[in-house]
Amino acid sequence: MDSLPNVLIDRFQRRVDYVRLSVTDRCDFRCVYCMAEDMVFVGKQHILTLEEIFEVARAFVELGVSKIRLTGGEPLIRNNILSLIGPLGQLTGLEHLVLTTNGSQLQRLAGTLRHLGVKRINISLDSLQPRRFRQLTRHGNLDQVIAGIDAAIAARFDHIRLNAVILKGRNEDEVLDLVNFALQRKIDIAFIEEMPLGLIDEHDRALSFCSSEELRDIISRQYELQSLGDPREHDGPARYFVTGDGPTRIGFISPHSHNFCHLCNRVRVTAEGRLLLCLGNEHSVDLRSVLRAPGYSLDRLKRTIIEAMSIKPERHHFNLNATPDIVRFMNATGG
Ligand code: SAM
Repeated sequence: MDSLPNVLIDRFQRRVDYVRLSVTDRCDFRCVYCMAEDMVFVGKQHILTLEEIFEVARAFVELGVSKIRLTGGEPLIRNNILSLIGPLGQLTGLEHLVLTTNGSQLQRLAGTLRHLGVKRINISLDSLQPRRFRQLTRHGNLDQVIAGIDAAIAARFDHIRLNAVILKGRNEDEVLDLVNFALQRKIDIAFIEEMPLGLIDEHDRALSFCSSEELRDIISRQYELQSLGDPREHDGPARYFVTGDGPTRIGFISPHSHNFCHLCNRVRVTAEGRLLLCLGNEHSVDLRSVLRAPGYSLDRLKRTIIEAMSIKPERHHFNLNATPDIVRFMNATGG
C-alpha cells in the first residue's frame, strides 16, 4: 500500500493545517444571527462520540494539522468534554489547542481548561448591556459571561479574544464600549461581519449588515488605528489594528467585504462527523460512516481526509439579498 503523506494540500496548493471541530450542535444560547428560536438538534446517536472525535483529531494531526479549535454549538456544555480535552492537550504534534465559547461555563472551567493544555480562547460578546445581551442571545446572562471572561484572564491563556457580531440598529452603538472593555482588560477583540448561514426570520440580514469599514470608522472617531498589516498565511482571516494603548489587537473579519479564501488553511468537522471543506459551500465528506464501518482503521480515515482535499472549493460567495444558499446554521457548521 502507498505510504501516506504527512501534509494536507488542496488542489489550489493551499496547505490545510487547521481544523475546527464542532463537538456539539447544542447551545445554551440562541444568538439571533446564529440560530432560530426553535431549533431542532441532531439526535444523540448521530453525534460523534468523544472517542470518535479524538480519533478524527489524531488522523488530522498525523496529516500535519498543528492547530485544532473546539467549537459548536457550545463546546463547554457537551457532557464530559474535559475527557476529550485532556487527551487532546497531550496529543503529540498538536501545537495549538484552542476553543471558542460563549463564556457561560468559563467561571467554572477556565482554570481546568488552561491546565489541560488549551492555549487560546475566543469568547463571544456582542453587548455590555444586560437586557440587550439577553435579547441578542435570547437566553444569556451577561454577568455570568463577564465573570467567565475574568476567570479566563485569571487563568492566563496565551491569548484571549472577544468575538463580536454587530447588527445595524441593534448594537452598533456599543462598538466603542466593546473596544474599551477589551482595552481595559488587555485582551483582543474581533468584529465579525454577519454571514448568511441558515434561515432566520428574526431580522433581515441585508438591513442589519454592518461592514468592517463602518466599524473601523466608528472606532477611528476615538482611536487612531495602526494596521498590523494584511493577514498572513496561517494567521487567520482577521485584519488587526492596535491603538497604541497597550497590547489589545482590534481585528476585523470580513467575509463579505474582504475575501480571504486564498489564505484558507482550514476545514471543519461538524458534530455529526461531516468534514466541511468550506464555510460557505456544501462540499463535504462523511467521516462518521468511515469511523463506524466494520474493519475501521486510522489509515482508512486518513485516506478519506486526503481524498477530500480534491473537492475543497476555491472560495465562497455570500449574497445577503438572496435566500441563503447554505441552510445549515452556524451552530451546525461549527463556528
Ligand atoms: N458557542 C460558541 C460561541 O458562542 O462562541 C461557539 C460557537 S459560535 C457558532 C462561534 C462564533 O460564530 C461566535 O463568535 C458567533 O458570534 C459566530 N457566529 C455565529 N453565527 C454567525 C453568523 N451568521 N455570522 C457571523 N458570525 C456568526
